[in-house]
Amino acid sequence: MKSAAFDYVKPKALQDALSLLAEAGDGAQLIAGGQTLLATLNLRLSEPSVLIDITDLTELKGITLVGDQLRIGALVTHTEIEDSELIAKHAPLLKAAAPHIAHRAIRNLGTWGGSLAYGDPAAEWPACSLALRATMIIQGPGGARRISANDFFIDLYTTSLEPDEILVATEMPIATSQEVFYFHELARRHGDYAVAGLAAVAQKQGDVLTKCAFTFFSVSSKPVMATKAQDLVNGKKLNDELIGKAVAATREEIEAIADITNSAEAKEHLMGVLLERGLKHMLA
Ligand SMILES: Cc1cc2nc3c(=O)[nH]c(=O)nc-3n(C[C@H](O)[C@H](O)[C@H](O)COP(=O)(O)OP(=O)(O)OC[C@H]3O[C@@H](n4cnc5c(N)ncnc54)[C@H](O)[C@@H]3O)c2cc1C
Repeated sequence: MKSAAFDYVKPKALQDALSLLAEAGDGAQLIAGGQTLLATLNLRLSEPSVLIDITDLTELKGITLVGDQLRIGALVTHTEIEDSELIAKHAPLLKAAAPHIAHRAIRNLGTWGGSLAYGDPAAEWPACSLALRATMIIQGPGGARRISANDFFIDLYTTSLEPDEILVATEMPIATSQEVFYFHELARRHGDYAVAGLAAVAQKQGDVLTKCAFTFFSVSSKPVMATKAQDLVNGKKLNDELIGKAVAATREEIEAIADITNSAEAKEHLMGVLLERGLKHMLA
């Protein structure tokens, strides 16, 4: 199938893109890397009257340090994240996660902001942004607003972005010397979307983890934090007994949703497997 006809514009400045978005109303759609959108256009799941190509907007580009925060522009590609020295040093979880996103050709075009804005519960970046306590920086007709990743992801493919808003960048605290992390996903083949995945971050002193953030993806309608397991583990000496309790609490707390090939029970089982491996990894 081919997409329905649409107009195409490529503004050079963020304000111009916002004006075009406001003028076109419901019929407009932003395009960044196009790695999700082009498929939905060709399948006619989406039929915008005008595509606003945002790839020339310099305000949305680059990975920079802003004080003790790491700023990642919405147009930064998955490959740039994978290859960035700043990311490797200050957000190593992202470097570990990047190779799991599709294949290099897709990572060369797909963007950090496109993935976050799309809000796919099976995608890696939403879960990582939650685990790293990222703040979304959003620009709309009334100015800029900031919202935590925790409040940004609302439901299946649904975020708090309004149709007249553009995700500009995210900021997240840089990793401390005590930070430990674990990223792993269970997928049928490398590059496939995960059956279940875990992005976990904590501070470690001896056998004790604090500031735990354990985020699962591909198990529910949005990335979910295992808050009960986090509370159980936080500040206590981690041992096999506590890991067992955290696994049980996670399976009880998070009600997984089946997909076309995997049952909810299988996903709940895999969440426990991932958490056990993750906690043992972070302890080691
Ligand atoms: C074969 C294949 C396999 C894939 N596998 C994976 C995978 O394993 N894991 C994974 O996470 N992803 C996967 N993807 C998706 C890929 O990572 C996409 O790049 C990503 O989801 C969307 O980024 P994009 O820049 O291409 O966005 P686009 O496709 O251009 O846009 C996606 C949506 O976000 C909106 N949008 C884009 N940028 C902004 C912005 N700055 N502000 C507001 N709205 C915006 C668009 O309007 C659109 O609705 C796969 C894609 C393909 C084709």
